[in-house]
Amino acid sequence: MSMSPSLPTVPILARLLLGSNLGDRAGLLAAARQVLAATAGDIVAQSGLYETAAWGLESQPAFLNQALTVSTWLRPEALLDACQAAEQHAGRQRLEHWGQRTLDVDILFYGSHVIQSPRLTVPHPRLPERRFALVPLAEIARAVRHPQLGLRVRDLLLHCPDPLAVEPWKGPA
Ligand code: ATP
Ligand code: CA
Ligand code: CA
Repeated sequence: MSMSPSLPTVPILARLLLGSNLGDRAGLLAAARQVLAATAGDIVAQSGLYETAAWGLESQPAFLNQALTVSTWLRPEALLDACQAAEQHAGRQRLEHWGQRTLDVDILFYGSHVIQSPRLTVPHPRLPERRFALVPLAEIARAVRHPQLGLRVRDLLLHCPDPLAVEPWKGPA
């Protein structure tokens, strides 16, 4: 029996971004970490929580974001399934594009693989223009290189044009 060439033969370090701007945001992120650890793989690094005004549709509540490194044996689409199952577990409803959500889980990097499929674009195409993604990612993956741009995460952050402030979260008011 030959093994599918797309099955990882070593675990892949996937970098995920969690976001929440509805309900008990920090509690929802904590629950998401538990679900992902059980379904996607060990969480080997996690950033702190950061708060950012909503991007795209700016009239909605602020987001909490967190970046994770997950050591996973899942193939990319199976990892996306796990991310979407975590969103469902948080009761996410898809109302409007970029609208309010209890939980969003995006795949920023899947090792250094470049993936283009109907369901998945990796690296995440909007990463370089999103300070709210780069700040937490830089905390756990400063020196990791973007496989298409060739720049390290810390350099993407230096060049990021996004004016929105990303503040370390101080806890519930
Ligand atoms: P954005 O992608 O701009 O952050 P969003 O997170 O609000 O927007 P969603 O509604 O959560 O968008 O997802 C829409 C679709 O994006 C998903 O169903 C999924 O198939 C697709 N997708 C493509 N690339 C990725 C990726 N790298 N991570 C997560 N989802 C992705
Ligand atoms: Ca997103
Ligand atoms: Ca998403």
